[in-house]
Amino acid sequence: MDQPSRTRRGLLIVLSSPSGAGKSTISRLLLRADPEVTMSISATTRPPRPGEQADRDYHFVDDKEFDRLMTAGEFVEWAPVFDYRYGTPKAPVKAALKAGRDILFDIDWQGTQQLHAAMGEDLVRIFILPPSMAELERRLRTRATDTDEVVAFRMARAASEISHWAEYDYVLINKDMESCLAEVRSIVAAERLKRQRQIGLVPFVRDLVAPR
Ligand code: 5GP
Repeated sequence: MDQPSRTRRGLLIVLSSPSGAGKSTISRLLLRADPEVTMSISATTRPPRPGEQADRDYHFVDDKEFDRLMTAGEFVEWAPVFDYRYGTPKAPVKAALKAGRDILFDIDWQGTQQLHAAMGEDLVRIFILPPSMAELERRLRTRATDTDEVVAFRMARAASEISHWAEYDYVLINKDMESCLAEVRSIVAAERLKRQRQIGLVPFVRDLVAPR
């Protein structure tokens, strides 16, 4: 793995979308393509889906443990989503920022608002829209891990999630995975070059223009 750059501050990248709009696939592809990005692993009270692995996809916890983590101030944000609660552990976020690594968050609009309030300028918010509601439903159905009832419920929630699109810095329409991934990578590349993130610039420029 490449050594991450120490001369810039890490970036917090939020990807939000209604369930099924493709953000999990985009996240996976981005992580594979970019060694400076790591995934934030949330805690959730939701039971694992088939194929999901504890501490890779989520930290699966019961209600009592979630309460304990909340009370101990271990979450940078948390929110109820559907019938369960989801929260982002604070410690890995702080460590990554300090080390100049980037963290990717797959969280909903409620969590994004809280992260924005807590982390401000360190956060880059990206919202992914499906090309149509019919296509969103088709993708939810081909995923095949959820029952009809769950799909209907998620479709009903999608419109309300989409209503938060304007709270994001970037909005992408996921017509095809490859272009959407390329767009996310361009955003990340540009955000890394922002002057205020390049903490090594001041000494570099001082040296650059110093009389020899
Ligand atoms: P799923 O159950 O399909 O994995 O996730 C359901 C929703 O919860 C998704 O919209 C996902 O972005 C959101 N989510 C996952 N982890 C977190 C978290 O730590 N905080 C918040 N606020 N939302 C989360």
